[in-house]
Amino acid sequence: MNFADRARAVLPGGVNSPVRAWNGVGGDPVPLASARGSRIVDASGASLIDLVGSWGPAILGHAHPEVVAAVQEAAARGLSFGATTEAEVELAEEIRARYAPAERVRLVSTGTEATMTAIRLARAATGRDLIVKFAGCYHGHSDALLVAAGSGLATAGVPDSAGVTPGAARDTLVLPYGDDAALTDAFAEHGARIAAVITEAAPCNMGVVAPPAGFNRLISTLCRHEGAVMILDEVLTGFRAGPAGWWGVERAHDVAAGLDPWVPDLVAFGKVIGGGMPVAAVGGRTELMERLAPLGPVYQAGTLSGNPVAVAAGLATMRLLDDAVHARVAAASDALRMGVSEALTAAGVRHAVGRAGTLFSVFLGVDDAPVTFEEASRQDTAAFARLFHALRAAGVALPPSAYEAWFVSAAHSSGDIEAIVDAVAAWAAAEAEAP
Ligand SMILES: *Cc1c(COP(=O)(O)O)cnc(C)c1O
Repeated sequence: MNFADRARAVLPGGVNSPVRAWNGVGGDPVPLASARGSRIVDASGASLIDLVGSWGPAILGHAHPEVVAAVQEAAARGLSFGATTEAEVELAEEIRARYAPAERVRLVSTGTEATMTAIRLARAATGRDLIVKFAGCYHGHSDALLVAAGSGLATAGVPDSAGVTPGAARDTLVLPYGDDAALTDAFAEHGARIAAVITEAAPCNMGVVAPPAGFNRLISTLCRHEGAVMILDEVLTGFRAGPAGWWGVERAHDVAAGLDPWVPDLVAFGKVIGGGMPVAAVGGRTELMERLAPLGPVYQAGTLSGNPVAVAAGLATMRLLDDAVHARVAAASDALRMGVSEALTAAGVRHAVGRAGTLFSVFLGVDDAPVTFEEASRQDTAAFARLFHALRAAGVALPPSAYEAWFVSAAHSSGDIEAIVDAVAAWAAAEAEAP
């Protein structure tokens, strides 16, 4: 039995998370053995330049020696206590120091828990049921949020999950992303029932989408006027799109333009703050956050929340993530984005690039960067599958889905970027000649 069959014989679909299967590109994934810096090594010993980065956490590159050392030291002191540690407080302080709206922080283990807890807090604080989300935005796999939810579902061709009750789906209102009128109308019609609007700070799970100017601000304004809670999902963008996430990018823009910055009520973090280990967080206004147990009536808990080994990875990562590292990530991202786009243009391959800060993805077969999920779905996923396999053969690992960001890290060298661009150029030339 080959490995893929053996995996499928015990794990549904051979994986523990759906996007790891190559349903969006065809073929069977090769199991990985190790990863270091910008590279992953598969079980056959092949080394590839990685643009997955564990789907976001690996912003320093894989297995940064100082992060690994911090984890080893923490592990030697004990794997889990189920009691508070100093490092948990330090990690929460690191988050708040960079991201002022996170006045209070609760650590959890997954982004799914972070958004689920934010929803529960919003409902408790408002006494309302309805949640507004945007088609193509992914917020983890809790029932209320698993409606029109982007990447994994888009890749699998599953519009919504089975097993979500009509009741859960009925309390979730799905609107097209970036549509001011649809949002304003929803508040006009249902305002008194809306507990929260949840949005990705910049959508990155339908490919990367730049939020239209003023859209996040409109969400904030409407929520404030109508007594609803604005939940900003920065699980993917947090401390990656920019030093203070996507919110920080817009904030800098607004301050430069002489506008009062808008401020989210609750924020979900994940991915980067765990540095490759299971750490996520919900943060926000003190008045909302102090509704959490044990202070308030909103229950939330976790045996492994703030796990000392995981927190050690997150804390070491956050401490290493200074302006110089962010600048390196930005430079690598710019060079790759522009190099890839030029190579595709030179060969006459139709494409558009979606970009939010240092995050980007390439949409093949369209002329304009999408804003809505409907527009993102017009991309040529078959062409992406060909690109994926051509790059794989050339030693580059793209995410196995057209609906994902291309993740660069501070460990990607200019040689790595050149090699990727050359591989894309070679594919584009062959693609342009194909009948
Ligand atoms: C990854 C992701 C989540 C879910 O995080 P998990 O840790 O996988 O549960 C939520 N929101 C966004 C925007 C994400 O990218």
